[in-house]
Amino acid sequence: MSSPVRVRFAPSPTGYLHIGGARTALFNWLFARHYGGTFVLRVEDTDQSRNTEEAAAAIYEGLRWLELQWDEGPHVGGDFGPYFQSQRNDIYERHLKKLQNADHIFEDKGALRFRSPREHVIVDDLVAGKIDFDLSNEQTHPDMTIRRPDGSWIFHFVNVVDDMEMKISHVIRGEDHLSNTPKHIELYRALGAEPPQFAHIPLILNRDGSKMSKRDQGASVDYYIKRGYLPEAVRNYLCLLGWSPKDNREKIDIDDIVRIFDLNNLVRSHATFDPDKLHWLNGEYAHELSDSEFYDRAVATLRSAGINIDNYSTEYVRAALQTCKGKINTFDELPAYCGFYFTDDLSYNPDGVAKHFTPENKSRLEAVRDALGQIDNFTANEIETIMKATAAKLGVKVGAIVHPSRLAVTGSNAGPSLYHLLEVLGKKKVLTRIDRALSTF
Ligand code: GLU
Repeated sequence: MSSPVRVRFAPSPTGYLHIGGARTALFNWLFARHYGGTFVLRVEDTDQSRNTEEAAAAIYEGLRWLELQWDEGPHVGGDFGPYFQSQRNDIYERHLKKLQNADHIFEDKGALRFRSPREHVIVDDLVAGKIDFDLSNEQTHPDMTIRRPDGSWIFHFVNVVDDMEMKISHVIRGEDHLSNTPKHIELYRALGAEPPQFAHIPLILNRDGSKMSKRDQGASVDYYIKRGYLPEAVRNYLCLLGWSPKDNREKIDIDDIVRIFDLNNLVRSHATFDPDKLHWLNGEYAHELSDSEFYDRAVATLRSAGINIDNYSTEYVRAALQTCKGKINTFDELPAYCGFYFTDDLSYNPDGVAKHFTPENKSRLEAVRDALGQIDNFTANEIETIMKATAAKLGVKVGAIVHPSRLAVTGSNAGPSLYHLLEVLGKKKVLTRIDRALSTF
Protein backbone atom coordinates (compact mmCIF):
# COMPACT_ATOMS: atom_id res chain seq x y z
CA MET A 1 0.00 0.00 0.00
CA SER A 2 1.52 3.33 -1.07
CA SER A 3 0.09 5.91 1.34
CA PRO A 4 -0.13 5.08 5.04
CA VAL A 5 -3.21 3.14 6.00
CA ARG A 6 -5.50 5.25 8.15
CA VAL A 7 -8.95 3.93 8.89
CA ARG A 8 -11.61 5.01 11.28
CA PHE A 9 -14.64 3.87 13.20
CA ALA A 10 -17.10 6.74 13.25
CA PRO A 11 -20.06 5.84 15.45
CA SER A 12 -22.94 8.14 16.21
CA PRO A 13 -23.33 7.69 19.95
CA THR A 14 -26.69 6.09 20.54
CA GLY A 15 -26.15 4.75 24.03
CA TYR A 16 -24.59 1.43 23.27
CA LEU A 17 -22.35 -0.39 20.84
CA HIS A 18 -24.37 -2.66 18.64
CA ILE A 19 -23.16 -5.79 16.91
CA GLY A 20 -23.05 -4.18 13.48
CA GLY A 21 -21.00 -1.25 14.80
CA ALA A 22 -18.66 -3.57 16.67
CA ARG A 23 -18.11 -5.61 13.51
CA THR A 24 -17.35 -2.41 11.55
CA ALA A 25 -14.91 -1.30 14.24
CA LEU A 26 -13.31 -4.74 14.24
CA PHE A 27 -12.80 -4.86 10.47
CA ASN A 28 -11.23 -1.41 10.55
CA TRP A 29 -9.01 -2.46 13.43
CA LEU A 30 -7.98 -5.69 11.67
CA PHE A 31 -7.18 -3.82 8.50
CA ALA A 32 -5.10 -1.25 10.39
CA ARG A 33 -3.23 -3.93 12.32
CA HIS A 34 -2.62 -6.00 9.19
CA TYR A 35 -1.02 -3.07 7.37
CA GLY A 36 0.63 -1.51 10.40
CA GLY A 37 -1.69 1.46 9.94
CA THR A 38 -3.65 3.72 12.26
CA PHE A 39 -7.09 3.03 13.68
CA VAL A 40 -8.94 6.24 14.49
CA LEU A 41 -12.03 6.57 16.65
CA ARG A 42 -14.19 9.55 15.74
CA VAL A 43 -17.38 10.32 17.56
CA GLU A 44 -20.05 11.60 15.18
CA ASP A 45 -22.06 13.52 17.72
CA THR A 46 -23.68 16.19 15.61
CA ASP A 47 -27.00 15.32 17.21
CA GLN A 48 -26.72 17.49 20.29
CA SER A 49 -30.03 16.34 21.70
CA ARG A 50 -28.30 13.26 23.10
CA ASN A 51 -26.02 13.10 26.07
CA THR A 52 -22.86 12.51 24.14
CA GLU A 53 -20.45 11.75 26.96
CA GLU A 54 -22.60 8.99 28.42
CA ALA A 55 -23.47 7.49 25.07
CA ALA A 56 -19.85 7.63 23.93
CA ALA A 57 -18.80 5.92 27.18
CA ALA A 58 -20.87 2.87 26.20
CA ILE A 59 -18.99 2.72 22.91
CA TYR A 60 -15.59 2.99 24.60
CA GLU A 61 -16.58 0.25 27.01
CA GLY A 62 -17.65 -2.09 24.21
CA LEU A 63 -14.52 -1.43 22.17
CA ARG A 64 -12.24 -1.88 25.15
CA TRP A 65 -13.98 -5.08 26.17
CA LEU A 66 -13.36 -6.44 22.67
CA GLU A 67 -9.79 -5.15 22.96
CA LEU A 68 -10.10 -2.95 19.91
CA GLN A 69 -7.83 -0.20 21.12
CA TRP A 70 -7.85 2.88 18.94
CA ASP A 71 -4.62 4.69 18.11
CA GLU A 72 -6.16 8.14 17.81
CA GLY A 73 -9.33 9.50 19.28
CA PRO A 74 -10.97 10.25 22.61
CA HIS A 75 -8.67 9.80 25.63
CA VAL A 76 -5.61 9.03 23.51
CA GLY A 77 -5.53 12.18 21.37
CA GLY A 78 -3.65 12.40 18.09
CA ASP A 79 -2.57 14.90 15.47
CA PHE A 80 -5.94 15.22 13.76
CA GLY A 81 -8.23 16.07 16.68
CA PRO A 82 -10.53 17.01 18.11
CA TYR A 83 -12.17 13.61 17.62
CA PHE A 84 -15.68 14.72 18.45
CA GLN A 85 -17.63 16.29 15.63
CA SER A 86 -19.30 18.59 18.13
CA GLN A 87 -15.89 20.22 18.66
CA ARG A 88 -14.94 20.66 15.02
CA ASN A 89 -17.22 23.51 14.02
CA ASP A 90 -14.41 25.82 12.86
CA ILE A 91 -13.14 23.16 10.50
CA TYR A 92 -16.60 22.70 8.99
CA GLU A 93 -17.06 26.48 8.64
CA ARG A 94 -13.76 26.68 6.77
CA HIS A 95 -14.74 23.99 4.29
CA LEU A 96 -18.19 25.45 3.88
CA LYS A 97 -16.57 28.79 2.90
CA LYS A 98 -14.54 26.95 0.29
CA LEU A 99 -17.66 25.42 -1.22
CA GLN A 100 -19.50 28.74 -1.06
CA ASN A 101 -16.66 30.58 -2.77
CA ALA A 102 -16.72 28.05 -5.57
CA ASP A 103 -20.48 28.52 -5.87
CA HIS A 104 -21.44 24.98 -4.87
CA ILE A 105 -23.86 26.07 -2.17
CA PHE A 106 -27.28 27.68 -2.26
CA GLU A 107 -29.70 28.67 0.43
CA ASP A 108 -33.14 27.14 0.65
CA LYS A 109 -35.53 28.24 3.41
CA GLY A 110 -32.65 28.87 5.80
CA ALA A 111 -30.91 25.57 5.04
CA LEU A 112 -27.72 25.29 3.03
CA ARG A 113 -27.71 22.84 0.15
CA PHE A 114 -25.03 21.49 -2.11
CA ARG A 115 -25.65 21.89 -5.82
CA SER A 116 -25.06 18.49 -7.39
CA PRO A 117 -23.00 18.48 -10.60
CA ARG A 118 -25.68 16.05 -11.85
CA GLU A 119 -23.46 13.45 -13.38
CA HIS A 120 -22.90 9.75 -13.18
CA VAL A 121 -20.63 8.82 -10.30
CA ILE A 122 -18.79 5.53 -10.37
CA VAL A 123 -18.13 4.04 -6.98
CA ASP A 124 -15.31 1.53 -7.21
CA ASP A 125 -15.94 -0.32 -4.00
CA LEU A 126 -13.42 -2.84 -2.68
CA VAL A 127 -16.22 -5.18 -1.66
CA ALA A 128 -19.25 -4.33 -3.76
CA GLY A 129 -17.28 -3.74 -6.95
CA LYS A 130 -17.85 -0.99 -9.52
CA ILE A 131 -21.25 0.65 -9.32
CA ASP A 132 -22.50 3.37 -11.62
CA PHE A 133 -24.80 5.81 -9.83
CA ASP A 134 -26.76 8.14 -12.07
CA LEU A 135 -27.26 11.34 -10.10
CA SER A 136 -28.50 13.36 -13.05
CA ASN A 137 -32.18 13.29 -12.13
CA GLU A 138 -33.08 15.96 -9.61
CA GLN A 139 -36.35 14.22 -8.75
CA THR A 140 -34.67 11.05 -7.56
CA HIS A 141 -31.50 12.74 -6.30
CA PRO A 142 -32.36 16.15 -4.87
CA ASP A 143 -29.51 18.46 -3.92
CA MET A 144 -28.35 17.42 -0.48
CA THR A 145 -28.74 19.63 2.54
CA ILE A 146 -25.48 20.08 4.40
CA ARG A 147 -26.58 22.49 7.10
CA ARG A 148 -29.96 22.87 8.75
CA PRO A 149 -31.56 26.26 9.38
CA ASP A 150 -30.60 25.95 13.07
CA GLY A 151 -26.92 25.81 12.08
CA SER A 152 -26.44 22.09 12.78
CA TRP A 153 -24.56 20.01 10.23
CA ILE A 154 -25.84 17.12 8.19
CA PHE A 155 -23.96 13.82 8.38
CA HIS A 156 -22.74 13.68 4.75
CA PHE A 157 -20.81 16.91 4.84
CA VAL A 158 -19.09 16.56 8.19
CA ASN A 159 -18.32 12.90 7.54
CA VAL A 160 -16.54 13.78 4.29
CA VAL A 161 -14.72 16.78 5.74
CA ASP A 162 -13.47 14.71 8.66
CA ASP A 163 -12.30 11.81 6.52
CA MET A 164 -10.44 14.33 4.37
CA GLU A 165 -8.95 16.25 7.27
CA MET A 166 -8.03 13.07 9.15
CA LYS A 167 -6.35 11.72 6.02
CA ILE A 168 -8.42 8.54 6.05
CA SER A 169 -7.14 6.19 3.35
CA HIS A 170 -9.93 3.57 3.48
CA VAL A 171 -13.53 3.99 4.53
CA ILE A 172 -14.72 0.62 5.75
CA ARG A 173 -18.34 0.78 6.84
CA GLY A 174 -21.72 -0.91 6.62
CA GLU A 175 -23.39 -1.46 3.30
CA ASP A 176 -26.25 0.80 4.39
CA HIS A 177 -23.90 3.68 3.51
CA LEU A 178 -23.18 2.50 -0.02
CA SER A 179 -25.98 4.61 -1.50
CA ASN A 180 -24.57 7.70 0.27
CA THR A 181 -21.16 7.21 -1.26
CA PRO A 182 -21.75 8.84 -4.68
CA LYS A 183 -22.93 11.97 -2.87
CA HIS A 184 -19.83 11.85 -0.72
CA ILE A 185 -17.67 11.55 -3.82
CA GLU A 186 -19.35 14.67 -5.24
CA LEU A 187 -18.36 16.51 -2.07
CA TYR A 188 -14.75 15.31 -2.22
CA ARG A 189 -14.49 16.53 -5.79
CA ALA A 190 -16.03 19.89 -4.98
CA LEU A 191 -13.54 20.24 -2.14
CA GLY A 192 -10.71 19.40 -4.52
CA ALA A 193 -9.78 16.21 -2.68
CA GLU A 194 -9.13 12.66 -3.81
CA PRO A 195 -11.78 10.35 -2.25
CA PRO A 196 -10.51 7.54 -0.05
CA GLN A 197 -11.00 3.92 -1.05
CA PHE A 198 -14.35 2.55 -0.02
CA ALA A 199 -15.20 -0.89 1.31
CA HIS A 200 -18.83 -1.46 2.21
CA ILE A 201 -19.29 -4.53 4.28
CA PRO A 202 -22.42 -6.67 3.94
CA LEU A 203 -25.34 -6.27 6.27
CA ILE A 204 -25.90 -8.55 9.21
CA LEU A 205 -29.18 -10.44 9.06
CA ASN A 206 -31.09 -12.37 11.67
CA ARG A 207 -31.65 -16.05 11.07
CA ASP A 208 -35.12 -15.31 9.68
CA GLY A 209 -33.55 -13.12 7.00
CA SER A 210 -34.63 -9.79 8.50
CA LYS A 211 -32.05 -7.07 8.94
CA MET A 212 -30.57 -7.12 12.42
CA SER A 213 -31.70 -3.97 14.13
CA LYS A 214 -30.92 -2.26 17.40
CA ARG A 215 -34.12 -3.61 18.87
CA ASP A 216 -33.28 -7.26 18.32
CA GLN A 217 -32.34 -9.26 21.37
CA GLY A 218 -28.61 -9.72 21.51
CA ALA A 219 -27.99 -6.79 19.18
CA SER A 220 -25.73 -4.94 21.59
CA VAL A 221 -22.27 -5.88 22.77
CA ASP A 222 -23.39 -5.06 26.28
CA TYR A 223 -25.76 -8.04 26.16
CA TYR A 224 -22.76 -10.38 25.88
CA ILE A 225 -20.75 -8.54 28.51
CA LYS A 226 -23.63 -8.97 30.96
CA ARG A 227 -24.09 -12.64 30.15
CA GLY A 228 -20.55 -13.62 30.87
CA TYR A 229 -19.35 -14.18 27.33
CA LEU A 230 -15.62 -14.10 26.71
CA PRO A 231 -14.48 -11.09 24.68
CA GLU A 232 -12.11 -13.16 22.58
CA ALA A 233 -14.96 -15.48 21.59
CA VAL A 234 -17.29 -12.63 20.66
CA ARG A 235 -14.52 -10.95 18.71
CA ASN A 236 -13.72 -14.19 16.89
CA TYR A 237 -17.39 -14.65 16.05
CA LEU A 238 -17.71 -11.08 14.75
CA CYS A 239 -14.76 -11.74 12.42
CA LEU A 240 -16.79 -14.46 10.75
CA LEU A 241 -19.65 -12.07 9.96
CA GLY A 242 -18.63 -11.09 6.47
CA TRP A 243 -15.09 -12.41 6.42
CA SER A 244 -13.81 -15.91 6.05
CA PRO A 245 -10.39 -17.53 6.20
CA LYS A 246 -11.54 -19.66 3.26
CA ASP A 247 -10.56 -22.92 4.92
CA ASN A 248 -13.64 -23.59 7.07
CA ARG A 249 -11.88 -22.74 10.28
CA GLU A 250 -14.13 -21.03 12.81
CA LYS A 251 -12.11 -20.76 15.97
CA ILE A 252 -9.12 -18.69 14.95
CA ASP A 253 -6.55 -16.89 16.99
CA ILE A 254 -6.77 -13.13 16.58
CA ASP A 255 -3.08 -12.88 15.63
CA ASP A 256 -3.74 -15.31 12.79
CA ILE A 257 -6.69 -13.25 11.65
CA VAL A 258 -4.63 -10.06 11.69
CA ARG A 259 -2.04 -11.83 9.57
CA ILE A 260 -4.45 -13.02 6.87
CA PHE A 261 -7.18 -10.38 7.03
CA ASP A 262 -7.68 -8.29 3.94
CA LEU A 263 -10.53 -6.53 2.24
CA ASN A 264 -10.37 -8.85 -0.74
CA ASN A 265 -11.34 -11.80 1.42
CA LEU A 266 -14.51 -10.13 2.62
CA VAL A 267 -17.65 -12.00 1.70
CA ARG A 268 -20.00 -10.12 -0.60
CA SER A 269 -23.23 -11.73 0.51
CA HIS A 270 -25.07 -10.84 3.70
CA ALA A 271 -23.88 -12.33 6.94
CA THR A 272 -26.27 -14.17 9.23
CA PHE A 273 -26.02 -13.69 12.94
CA ASP A 274 -26.41 -17.06 14.61
CA PRO A 275 -26.61 -16.78 18.42
CA ASP A 276 -26.24 -20.56 18.78
CA LYS A 277 -22.96 -20.53 16.93
CA LEU A 278 -21.66 -17.70 19.08
CA HIS A 279 -22.76 -19.65 22.15
CA TRP A 280 -20.93 -22.72 20.89
CA LEU A 281 -17.80 -20.75 20.02
CA ASN A 282 -17.82 -19.15 23.45
CA GLY A 283 -17.86 -22.65 24.91
CA GLU A 284 -14.81 -23.54 22.84
CA TYR A 285 -12.95 -20.60 24.34
CA ALA A 286 -14.29 -21.23 27.84
CA HIS A 287 -13.09 -24.84 27.73
CA GLU A 288 -9.59 -23.63 26.94
CA LEU A 289 -9.25 -21.23 29.84
CA SER A 290 -6.55 -22.12 32.32
CA ASP A 291 -7.80 -23.41 35.68
CA SER A 292 -6.99 -20.14 37.36
CA GLU A 293 -8.64 -17.99 34.69
CA PHE A 294 -11.71 -20.17 34.88
CA TYR A 295 -11.72 -20.00 38.66
CA ASP A 296 -11.38 -16.21 38.79
CA ARG A 297 -14.18 -15.64 36.31
CA ALA A 298 -16.38 -18.25 37.91
CA VAL A 299 -15.94 -16.78 41.39
CA ALA A 300 -16.77 -13.29 40.09
CA THR A 301 -19.86 -14.62 38.32
CA LEU A 302 -21.13 -16.50 41.37
CA ARG A 303 -20.54 -13.53 43.65
CA SER A 304 -22.39 -11.17 41.37
CA ALA A 305 -25.24 -13.67 41.15
CA GLY A 306 -25.51 -13.43 44.92
CA ILE A 307 -24.32 -16.97 45.60
CA ASN A 308 -22.69 -17.14 48.97
CA ILE A 309 -19.45 -18.89 48.20
CA ASP A 310 -17.62 -17.11 50.98
CA ASN A 311 -19.18 -19.41 53.59
CA TYR A 312 -17.21 -22.29 52.11
CA SER A 313 -13.54 -23.14 52.20
CA THR A 314 -11.37 -22.20 49.24
CA GLU A 315 -10.60 -25.88 48.64
CA TYR A 316 -14.29 -26.70 48.48
CA VAL A 317 -15.03 -23.84 46.07
CA ARG A 318 -12.09 -24.80 43.91
CA ALA A 319 -13.06 -28.44 43.78
CA ALA A 320 -16.68 -27.54 43.04
CA LEU A 321 -15.73 -25.23 40.20
CA GLN A 322 -13.31 -27.75 38.79
CA THR A 323 -16.27 -30.05 38.09
CA CYS A 324 -17.83 -27.29 35.95
CA LYS A 325 -14.84 -26.56 33.80
CA GLY A 326 -15.38 -27.63 30.22
CA LYS A 327 -19.10 -28.03 30.88
CA ILE A 328 -20.57 -24.58 30.45
CA ASN A 329 -20.54 -22.40 27.36
CA THR A 330 -21.10 -19.04 28.98
CA PHE A 331 -20.48 -17.97 32.53
CA ASP A 332 -24.05 -16.87 33.12
CA GLU A 333 -24.97 -20.58 33.00
CA LEU A 334 -22.81 -21.20 36.03
CA PRO A 335 -25.11 -20.17 38.92
CA ALA A 336 -27.83 -22.58 37.79
CA TYR A 337 -25.24 -25.21 36.95
CA CYS A 338 -23.42 -25.32 40.26
CA GLY A 339 -25.57 -23.38 42.73
CA PHE A 340 -26.42 -26.68 44.52
CA TYR A 341 -22.91 -26.76 45.95
CA PHE A 342 -23.60 -23.60 47.91
CA THR A 343 -27.01 -24.17 49.44
CA ASP A 344 -28.71 -27.01 51.29
CA ASP A 345 -32.11 -25.61 50.56
CA LEU A 346 -32.60 -27.36 47.24
CA SER A 347 -35.76 -27.19 45.23
CA TYR A 348 -36.25 -30.15 42.93
CA ASN A 349 -36.88 -29.69 39.22
CA PRO A 350 -40.61 -30.51 38.81
CA ASP A 351 -40.16 -32.46 35.57
CA GLY A 352 -37.41 -34.42 37.21
CA VAL A 353 -39.59 -35.14 40.23
CA ALA A 354 -42.37 -36.50 38.00
CA LYS A 355 -39.92 -38.65 36.13
CA HIS A 356 -37.47 -39.84 38.78
CA PHE A 357 -39.03 -39.55 42.23
CA THR A 358 -41.33 -42.46 41.49
CA PRO A 359 -42.43 -45.14 43.98
CA GLU A 360 -40.20 -47.74 42.34
CA ASN A 361 -37.21 -45.42 42.56
CA LYS A 362 -37.71 -44.94 46.30
CA SER A 363 -36.24 -48.33 47.18
CA ARG A 364 -33.48 -47.82 44.61
CA LEU A 365 -32.52 -44.51 46.14
CA GLU A 366 -32.59 -46.11 49.58
CA ALA A 367 -30.20 -48.75 48.27
CA VAL A 368 -27.92 -46.04 46.91
CA ARG A 369 -28.02 -44.28 50.25
CA ASP A 370 -27.04 -47.43 52.10
CA ALA A 371 -24.28 -48.27 49.65
CA LEU A 372 -22.78 -44.79 49.76
CA GLY A 373 -22.99 -44.87 53.55
CA GLN A 374 -20.62 -47.87 53.51
CA ILE A 375 -17.81 -46.00 51.73
CA ASP A 376 -14.92 -44.86 53.89
CA ASN A 377 -12.86 -43.26 51.19
CA PHE A 378 -15.48 -41.05 49.55
CA THR A 379 -13.80 -40.50 46.19
CA ALA A 380 -15.28 -40.38 42.70
CA ASN A 381 -13.64 -43.72 41.87
CA GLU A 382 -15.01 -45.50 44.90
CA ILE A 383 -18.39 -43.93 44.38
CA GLU A 384 -18.49 -45.09 40.79
CA THR A 385 -17.59 -48.65 41.76
CA ILE A 386 -20.25 -48.77 44.44
CA MET A 387 -22.94 -47.23 42.26
CA LYS A 388 -22.29 -49.78 39.53
CA ALA A 389 -22.35 -52.63 42.00
CA THR A 390 -25.60 -51.31 43.46
CA ALA A 391 -27.19 -51.11 40.02
CA ALA A 392 -26.10 -54.66 39.29
CA LYS A 393 -27.53 -55.88 42.58
CA LEU A 394 -30.83 -54.16 41.80
CA GLY A 395 -30.80 -55.59 38.31
CA VAL A 396 -31.05 -52.16 36.65
CA LYS A 397 -28.82 -50.09 34.41
CA VAL A 398 -26.69 -47.61 36.27
CA GLY A 399 -28.66 -44.75 34.68
CA ALA A 400 -31.71 -45.88 36.62
CA ILE A 401 -30.02 -44.92 39.89
CA VAL A 402 -27.85 -42.07 38.59
CA HIS A 403 -30.81 -39.86 37.60
CA PRO A 404 -32.75 -40.01 40.86
CA SER A 405 -29.51 -39.64 42.80
CA ARG A 406 -28.53 -36.55 40.84
CA LEU A 407 -31.94 -35.01 41.34
CA ALA A 408 -31.78 -35.78 45.04
CA VAL A 409 -28.42 -34.13 45.66
CA THR A 410 -28.54 -31.27 43.15
CA GLY A 411 -32.24 -30.63 42.54
CA SER A 412 -31.55 -30.72 38.84
CA ASN A 413 -31.51 -33.18 35.94
CA ALA A 414 -28.21 -32.01 34.50
CA GLY A 415 -24.94 -30.85 35.89
CA PRO A 416 -21.37 -31.91 36.57
CA SER A 417 -20.31 -35.55 36.56
CA LEU A 418 -22.30 -37.24 39.34
CA TYR A 419 -19.44 -39.18 40.87
CA HIS A 420 -17.26 -36.11 41.02
CA LEU A 421 -19.90 -33.84 42.44
CA LEU A 422 -20.70 -36.40 45.14
CA GLU A 423 -17.04 -36.47 46.10
CA VAL A 424 -16.95 -32.69 46.33
CA LEU A 425 -20.12 -32.51 48.42
CA GLY A 426 -18.75 -35.16 50.77
CA LYS A 427 -20.42 -38.12 52.35
CA LYS A 428 -22.26 -36.31 55.11
CA LYS A 429 -23.96 -33.81 52.87
CA VAL A 430 -24.78 -36.42 50.27
CA LEU A 431 -26.51 -38.69 52.77
CA THR A 432 -28.43 -35.81 54.31
CA ARG A 433 -29.59 -34.70 50.88
CA ILE A 434 -30.70 -38.18 49.87
CA ASP A 435 -32.64 -38.49 53.14
CA ARG A 436 -34.29 -35.15 52.53
CA ALA A 437 -35.26 -36.20 49.01
CA LEU A 438 -36.59 -39.56 50.24
CA SER A 439 -38.82 -37.77 52.71
CA THR A 440 -40.58 -36.04 49.82
CA PHE A 441 -41.57 -39.27 48.05
N1 GLU B 1 -21.81 8.00 11.96
C1 GLU B 1 -22.05 7.15 10.84
C2 GLU B 1 -22.75 5.90 11.31
O1 GLU B 1 -22.71 5.60 12.49
C3 GLU B 1 -20.71 6.82 10.21
C4 GLU B 1 -20.77 6.25 8.86
C5 GLU B 1 -19.38 6.07 8.27
O2 GLU B 1 -18.67 5.19 8.77
O3 GLU B 1 -19.03 6.81 7.38
O4 GLU B 1 -23.42 5.25 10.56
